[in-house]
Amino acid sequence: MKVAVAGVGAMGTRFALKLKQAGNNVTVVDGWQERVASLKKDGLRANLDGQEVTVKVPAYGQWEVPRDHHFDLVLFFTKSMQLEQMVRDMLPAFDDDTLALCLMNGIGHEKTLEKYLPKERVFLGNTMWTAQMTRPDHVLLEDDGTCELSNVEPGEPQRSQAKELVKVFKAAGLKPRLLDDPRYSVFRKGCVNGTLNTLCTLFECNLTEYSKTSHAHEMVVKIVKEFAAVGAKEGVNLDVAEVVDHVEASYDVIGAHYPSMYQDLVKNNRRTEIDYMNGYVSTHGKKYGVATPYCDLLTAEVHTKEDLQGAQ
Ligand code: NAD
Repeated sequence: MKVAVAGVGAMGTRFALKLKQAGNNVTVVDGWQERVASLKKDGLRANLDGQEVTVKVPAYGQWEVPRDHHFDLVLFFTKSMQLEQMVRDMLPAFDDDTLALCLMNGIGHEKTLEKYLPKERVFLGNTMWTAQMTRPDHVLLEDDGTCELSNVEPGEPQRSQAKELVKVFKAAGLKPRLLDDPRYSVFRKGCVNGTLNTLCTLFECNLTEYSKTSHAHEMVVKIVKEFAAVGAKEGVNLDVAEVVDHVEASYDVIGAHYPSMYQDLVKNNRRTEIDYMNGYVSTHGKKYGVATPYCDLLTAEVHTKEDLQGAQ
């Protein structure tokens, strides 16, 4: 499959690397000048499960997206607030049959993609893999993971295309699962981010440390209930008990992990994706007349921390 990975920070590198190693034709595009320079010079460099690997791929800046290549798939892996600009910049690389897949964290990305592309060609999901940029030219890829995806619009040919994407990702060892309802999955993952990413960032701890605090369970339940209340207004009916179990199961699987929001704000002083997590619930709760006091406060607290630190 001919794949363009649009956004090759930590997670884009994992997917680009695995897809390329499995024999796909992979091109990468990024918007960070320093990153693009290193991709052009040295290719994708990572520590993958303890081994240093380097894989050469064609690399382009977001400002020079090739118009004469045909891609079967564009896989978006920017940060949420960078997505719309990346979609616009990638449009010259889309033919009539190019598919768009977004596995990023955050709620509502399909709406951004559908502003520019037909719904039938938009595919959505999420990933439980982890990844971390150690330097502009190097990524750390450890831990086990999975991903899940589906077509956004029901029907054919998009259902068969989703199955084909799952086949390609499976052959690349990315452990994909075909979803029935991608928005359910995105909201469910949003609950993991809206609890553990946000709380571990504010309290500056890893998942295990958070899990041992006295109010850990109570806060997770309260936040998940707010995601569920807003989801219900959008036709996404979360099973709160199952989602709480899912969030808390992370303590055993990746307990030593500091979530990516922690890495962004605490380690790298970068602005966070909070507006697409608790912030989505907060703003949409207001729209639907649903009270979301935990998400309102958490969103304001993360923005306050960003402001105090002068995060970029
Ligand atoms: P990332 O920050 O590593 O990369 C995203 C973009 O930001 C890339 O274009 C990258 O080049 C650029 N960037 C990275 N560091 C920068 C810096 N210091 N200055 C300027 N630009 C910089 O993001 P990611 O971790 O790959 O996340 C992509 C998406 O995947 C997000 O929605 C994220 O929430 C999601 N996700 C990430 C993880 C993870 O463990 N990293 C896990 C699950 C989901």
